[in-house]
Amino acid sequence: MQECRKRDIRREADSFRKRCGVGHYGISNLFRDCESLGYKLLRYPLGESADLGFVLKRDNDTVIFTNSCSRLSRELFTLAHEIGHIVLHMDKDKQFVDDNMTLSGGHSDEKEQEANYFAACLLMPDDEVEKFLDLQLPGFNEKGLSAMDIARLMSEFNVSFDMALNRLENLGKIDSKERLRLDDERNERRVGNLLKSVVGNSRLNLPSMDIEIPHEYVDCVIYNYNHNAIPRETLGRALAYCQLVWEDVSDRLVEHADEDKDSESAIGDS
Ligand SMILES: [Zn+2]
Repeated sequence: MQECRKRDIRREADSFRKRCGVGHYGISNLFRDCESLGYKLLRYPLGESADLGFVLKRDNDTVIFTNSCSRLSRELFTLAHEIGHIVLHMDKDKQFVDDNMTLSGGHSDEKEQEANYFAACLLMPDDEVEKFLDLQLPGFNEKGLSAMDIARLMSEFNVSFDMALNRLENLGKIDSKERLRLDDERNERRVGNLLKSVVGNSRLNLPSMDIEIPHEYVDCVIYNYNHNAIPRETLGRALAYCQLVWEDVSDRLVEHADEDKDSESAIGDS
């Protein structure tokens, strides 16, 4: 990637970041930001061998999917990568599908490299990393960083241990030797334990298995039920996809005199 293109991507990531909720240094909840930015975000535990994410444009909707079977920190990186495709590439292409290959640093496709670079700049911008090291980890230049320091960075920026190491290396904060040493220390102490020891966010290192489906989906099935287009049974199944039960939405349902009579006109009940 050429230096001028990198600068453009940093600029895009910086201006996108201004639209997100930022804590002290890192973005607090990128999932929530998606909703306020008008993207339709779908999260589902699709399985460990399935794709990790995709983004597509349909009519006026921008739909992002992330697989919540991957560790939360990785799922957040996938989300940032998909946002990179939206910001950088969606004027020409209509969809991108991502797996372990496209989300790894070594992928040869230019657009995948750009989306990865965008994600890194969005989640861990140079100036915020610099500020964190200066204010929160004083003396790191002399002492070097410990794996516990990396866990602190993880918790603040909501990234994985590997992502934190990658970014620090790319920003010239650590060299390859230090990286190896930190990697070894991580293998000895395990990331989950490191996060606990710095009272960090241990959830980052685990798959969330969360299910998040845009509220329009629930509105749509309730509308269909209330207008006799789907039977009670189908409504129950559709709600179950969102981990909802009948009682959760009962105040929005219209009572039907005869539940069975119109199942023939059901939409999407196959
Ligand atoms: Zn991609």
